[in-house]
Amino acid sequence: MGLRLAELEATRDLSRQICHVDADQFYAAVELKRDPSLKGKAFGVGTGVLTTASYEARLKGCRSGQAVFVAKALCPELITVPNNFAAYVEASGQVMEILGSYDENLQPASLDEAYLDITDYCTQHQMTAEQVVTQLRNEVQEETGLTVSVGIGANKTLAKICSDRNSNRTQWPVRRCSRPSDYHEFHARSASAQNPGHRPSYRAHSLQDLGRFPRYSVVS
Ligand SMILES: [Mg+2]
Repeated sequence: MGLRLAELEATRDLSRQICHVDADQFYAAVELKRDPSLKGKAFGVGTGVLTTASYEARLKGCRSGQAVFVAKALCPELITVPNNFAAYVEASGQVMEILGSYDENLQPASLDEAYLDITDYCTQHQMTAEQVVTQLRNEVQEETGLTVSVGIGANKTLAKICSDRNSNRTQWPVRRCSRPSDYHEFHARSASAQNPGHRPSYRAHSLQDLGRFPRYSVVS
């Protein structure tokens, strides 16, 4: 390890408990609440392009950002539901209000994603980050009917990587990433699909790519 690198390693602040909270299949989950008859069915939200796909549709290869005609070719029984942004904004507001009680300075990243620093909350309530996150997830589920995946890390990037790993495994233990070794492990696997900004098939090589794959091109 170079001298400069060792110096940076020694001064790295890994003391904060940063969380990345990401609602699971947010748009589909909101639609499911609006129309429970969709439960267990392959459906997608959006008319021209899917903003999200239900779990059953994902099993057939349907994905957010996919043209509906492609999705229907993959899954002929796919039901499409038009976007209802008023409902998404309302659901988002409910989730963010709960998250705001854990960190009033939370940073929403989109309608269904936010970063929060729960370090002070942990200290004040004498709880571990894992306990706080379990409580937070239960609260969101009880009050909104939505489930969220959460990653905990010493910074936003690590937290985001961890929540991606937890995605759709919401009953599994929360993954944590706060030691230098965790950080190196993730970077060593930079070709892994788990690492935002490094997904091989979505990697941006030009500005044009950024327009084509906006969701996957941002390195947080
Ligand atoms: Mg989400």
